[in-house]
Amino acid sequence: MQNTLDIKVAKTTASRLQETDFNNLPFGHIFSDHMFVADYADGEWKNFQIMPYGDLSLSPAIASLHYGQTFFEGLKAYSHPDGKIVVFRPEKNAERFNLSAQRMCMPELPVEIFLESIAALVNIDRNWIPKAAHHSLYIRPYMFATDPYLGVAPSKTYKYIILTCPVGAYFSKPLKVKIETKYSRASEGGFGFAKAGGNYGGSLFPAQEALKEGFDQIIWTDGREHAFVEELGAANVMFVIDGKLVTPSTRDTILKGVTRDSVLTLARKWGVPVEERRVSVTEVIEGLKSGRLTEAFGAGTAATIAPIASIGYEGQLYTLPDQSQAEFSNKVLKTLNDIRYGYGPDEMGWNYVI
Ligand code: PMP
Repeated sequence: MQNTLDIKVAKTTASRLQETDFNNLPFGHIFSDHMFVADYADGEWKNFQIMPYGDLSLSPAIASLHYGQTFFEGLKAYSHPDGKIVVFRPEKNAERFNLSAQRMCMPELPVEIFLESIAALVNIDRNWIPKAAHHSLYIRPYMFATDPYLGVAPSKTYKYIILTCPVGAYFSKPLKVKIETKYSRASEGGFGFAKAGGNYGGSLFPAQEALKEGFDQIIWTDGREHAFVEELGAANVMFVIDGKLVTPSTRDTILKGVTRDSVLTLARKWGVPVEERRVSVTEVIEGLKSGRLTEAFGAGTAATIAPIASIGYEGQLYTLPDQSQAEFSNKVLKTLNDIRYGYGPDEMGWNYVI
């Protein structure tokens, strides 16, 4: 891709590539050699740079540290057997980046800058994309407020940064999850649909409580009555009920997942009936009791499909059929992997080639 941003590139003189153990890539711990950094000031994005990954020097007063004016994205790059490097549907993340920006009262980033900055960084660190099966390069673009000012007001200056991390296969063992009836992740009129830091900070305590009770994850419910299902941990939640793919419709409280959209698109293409609507806890529990609910899974960039083995609700544990029988979720996972890893055709044109 052409460098139309006039990115200043300072390459590292001490690459960590050789000393990195690509057989041991715990998520989010290992960073590639470089990062992308840009500044927003005087109403415009400027100072586009790629530099060695390293510490930043910032005022301790920056607004993001005090009032949470910060948000992020997560997407992945894949290496194909023919040597091509692709990023999966980055335009969708660019769109969501700007939804988050609007809601957090932060400046939008033109889609071209988002795409070109990712392409330039991934290109420089292309040797960091693991080649082993089911491995990828996780891309973390984020923006945060940098005004050194303690008033509660939108900052006038920001930084946009991209980090990348080689990540291994994410084999999610089928999850034991809990339908949350006390805490909520988001509320109507709130900002659950934005990928803002605070949504994740606030989810940690309920998640720890659930872990103590022996659950892997939480199925979040609406903050008003805890009567409707919303998300699964940091993923969208989907069910197969009576052979139909059923998922909560997106609203203020739900993140518009790129994986969610991809799964729904494939289901429609295959002629699987799809229902995007409010999904009540009662419907889920009755479906589990009667056996009409045959599959339940999370959909997100980290795991793609995270199957659910059992669901706890009001002291009862309901078990789902074995994952080997989960026809739809196994098929959709294989299809998405084939597209992203270049083993199958990309009929949807989802791969953005770098
Ligand atoms: N919901 C939440 C709260 C998330 O953090 C994520 C992960 N980004 C998702 C859903 C899934 O979104 P995506 O498929 O775009 O990763």
